[in-house]
Amino acid sequence: MRRPLVAGNWKMNGSMQEVSVLLNALAALELPGDVDVAVFPGMLYLAQAGSTLKGIAVGAQDCAVSAGFGAMTGETSATQLKDAGCSMVLVGHSERRELQCESDDTVAGKFVAAQSAGLVPVLCVGETLQQREQGRAIETVTEQVEAVIRVAGIDAFADAVLAYEPVWAIGTGLTATPEQAQQVHEALRGVIACHSAGIAQGLRILYGGSVKADNATELFAQEDIDGGLVGGASLDAEEFGAICRAA
Ligand code: PGA
Repeated sequence: MRRPLVAGNWKMNGSMQEVSVLLNALAALELPGDVDVAVFPGMLYLAQAGSTLKGIAVGAQDCAVSAGFGAMTGETSATQLKDAGCSMVLVGHSERRELQCESDDTVAGKFVAAQSAGLVPVLCVGETLQQREQGRAIETVTEQVEAVIRVAGIDAFADAVLAYEPVWAIGTGLTATPEQAQQVHEALRGVIACHSAGIAQGLRILYGGSVKADNATELFAQEDIDGGLVGGASLDAEEFGAICRAA
């Protein structure tokens, strides 16, 4: 049995004041004991999140391709994130693939850097609307995952999380139907299983893209959906708590 994980991706949201309010509200939530919960605040607030939250893991939304320290102005390494109290990091979110032009190779490099610093990478994959309409959704996410396997090796997935986030469902209010999501999750698990059946069995695959309290139960009921990566709805502590309880 895979233990569900619900992760909140705060993106570039929250002032000092708003983050304090949200963290205090999260700290006061009664969360289910059989679900792992994590939040991914902006870089500036990671240490504060770590000191305020107990029983909720803290992760960053990105890391540098190199671990360690060095002359990389503006970057934050997985080593520094670990030092600041993070245990996880998102890699390859579609907003970074698109807006920062991150290639599959860059994403694979970040995945490896995260693990070398002792962080659990959450590898995000997903197709655009055009790719889905062309019938290439599964082909697209398969290539995104294979690109990381080629660099990191399959064993690296024993200590990683995968997140399927169709680009057309992110922040749009359009959610994949539970059947559409399950079809891709099953295919992704199959891709991993071609390399290692045991790792595929244990790998948590989260769904992301307009997850809300009122669609989470149906999505999380699917066999290969092991929780969610929640954007907008994770900025409301009550709603996020309800999504955690649905897992
Ligand atoms: P959304 O974002 O829930 O606001 O669609 C999900 C994500 O981008 O991780």
